[in-house]
Amino acid sequence: MTTAYITHPECAKHDVGDEHPEAPERLSAINDALISLRIMDFLQCHDARPAERSALALAHSEAHIKRVYDKSPLMGLRQLDPDTFMNPHSLEAALLGVGAVMQAVDLVMAGKVKNAFCSVRPPGHHAERDKAMGFCIFNNIAIGALHALEHHGLKKVAIVDFDVHHGNGTENIFLHDSRVLFCSTFQSPLYPDTFADSEPGHIVNVPLEPGTKGDLFRQQVRERILPELDAFEPEFIFISAGFDAHKQDPLAHLSLLEDDYRWITHQLLDVAEKHAGRRVVSALEGGYNLEALATSVCAHVGCLAGLHHAG
Ligand SMILES: [Zn+2]
Repeated sequence: MTTAYITHPECAKHDVGDEHPEAPERLSAINDALISLRIMDFLQCHDARPAERSALALAHSEAHIKRVYDKSPLMGLRQLDPDTFMNPHSLEAALLGVGAVMQAVDLVMAGKVKNAFCSVRPPGHHAERDKAMGFCIFNNIAIGALHALEHHGLKKVAIVDFDVHHGNGTENIFLHDSRVLFCSTFQSPLYPDTFADSEPGHIVNVPLEPGTKGDLFRQQVRERILPELDAFEPEFIFISAGFDAHKQDPLAHLSLLEDDYRWITHQLLDVAEKHAGRRVVSALEGGYNLEALATSVCAHVGCLAGLHHAG
């Protein structure tokens, strides 16, 4: 069985200005690198299908959903929060991001692929139940996880978020839902600067000081996250795959390298093999240096596709 690669050209039409780091070129950089490194040959490509409006209610309040639909502009830009904007294509792109993760869950649950990577934007992990935030409109990974729980009958799933920013939106959505183990590594202090206390078996927040390199990152994952995953025995592992903890990233100050992304992907695949019938769905979050983003995604997706050996 293979790895699904789910994306859509419309995701690149969400363009909120040349100054904004969350740029359409992120997706083409990833796509080009997967082709030039010949990883694409091993992937099963799918065009994302847009989520229905009703699916958004799995994770979001009706007030938030209505606000986004009402603000969707016919021309120009509309602002949802200080960092989050919509152009006339943003709503469609956001629905495709959600739809991609749901489709990935369906493909994995049907046994058609072993795992999947969703190369989508806007990202999702800052979007809370009731608000858009930090470049994120709807919480792609949270809706995917709820789709697995509500529509595929799973009882417990884990979400691991290694984006450099805390996954506050995902935490907010699952704070009182013990079916989900949420584990997040992130730089602190750094936007959004709020995170709940860790709660064993449910919420595991691992703040990392600016300057943290791969060795300490791996130690923290090994000591704080892997034992929690092992004890929780999730039936499905979701990954909020942000690559802005890379040394070259302009928005933060951690110093991870491609090998660190390879390493954590292997660790998560091992947990999935042991507990989750190998079921893994990963969705793109941040990552703003195009070259580092592309090579890091290649390291991550290469592992998902079984093209790299553990290192
Ligand atoms: Zn981020």
